[in-house]
Amino acid sequence: MRRVLPALAVSTLLLGSAGASLHAAAPSDYPAQATFPEANPKALARHLSAARKWAEPDLLPEFYWRCMTSPLDRKTVFAIQHDGLVQEAKVFDQLYSIGQNAVSAWALDTSDGIILIDALNNEAEARDILVPNMVRLGLDPKRIKILIVTHGHGDHWGGAKYLQDTFGARVALSEADWKMLESPDRGGGPFRDLVPPRRDMVVRDGDTITLGKTSVRLFVTPGHTPGTLSLMFPVTDKGRPHVVALMGGTGGGTTGPAVHDQIASLQRWNGLTGKAGVDALISNHPAHIAAIEKIQLLTHGDPADSNPFVYGKDRAQRFSKVMEACSRVQLARMGESGD
Ligand SMILES: [Zn+2]
Repeated sequence: MRRVLPALAVSTLLLGSAGASLHAAAPSDYPAQATFPEANPKALARHLSAARKWAEPDLLPEFYWRCMTSPLDRKTVFAIQHDGLVQEAKVFDQLYSIGQNAVSAWALDTSDGIILIDALNNEAEARDILVPNMVRLGLDPKRIKILIVTHGHGDHWGGAKYLQDTFGARVALSEADWKMLESPDRGGGPFRDLVPPRRDMVVRDGDTITLGKTSVRLFVTPGHTPGTLSLMFPVTDKGRPHVVALMGGTGGGTTGPAVHDQIASLQRWNGLTGKAGVDALISNHPAHIAAIEKIQLLTHGDPADSNPFVYGKDRAQRFSKVMEACSRVQLARMGESGD
């Protein structure tokens, strides 16, 4: 006993001091995960559980990104969502991925020209990444007719003026987001030095943009920004018809009221996409739906395998439910009930 007691005392002492000094001993330049001291734990557990139920078993990457990675660890977000070159790709018979690693851009080919969706960060990226990607895919940039910008953050419209000036693309945004990029600080953040495009087209909720035989339906879905646009349009995959949706604000809202707007938009979007028979999804940041990984599968996988951008109707519906539940998780982390 004499030997045991001192040993116990020593180990207790060590445990006690280790607990107290854990963080003091950690390297000072190691970032900590975000913590949420205001969180409502019961609401958080409830909404995490709901999000997981919508996500299992086939939407876990999307769930982990939106509910965990993105809110918990900005450094991981920037490490994954870094500026970088990625494989350009034909994703459907008429739809091409022409963006970069951090932010997407899409080309929708029609019988009467090309509709672009988003324009990357700046003129240099539009000129040196987006346009060469198009050329490599056999798309003539002179056929660009319309550029739809999903929202007023500069990583989506930075290259718009170049495409407008160079190819005569007519630029379309919602009224609220035109105001963002026309404001003196260009919507704030790192975008204030960008030169915005001239105002060509103002998209209203429920508008349709038709080029040739292709019609894109557009809806104003506030939350990520006041006038975020979400789109749906028909495509074919080796001749088989599908309806593609792009929810423009999967980055979510940043303030309580914006997150509430986001939830209302996602509920509405769930109904609209269900009614339209949406069964395929794309996004305006690759990381939001693991689009880089999907493109690798498309490019290097067995051509007989299914197209990974085709989710099926049920899974496409559950995607917006996962996004909604993760917005409620976000509210619970702010201390709200999230209901
Ligand atoms: Zn944004």
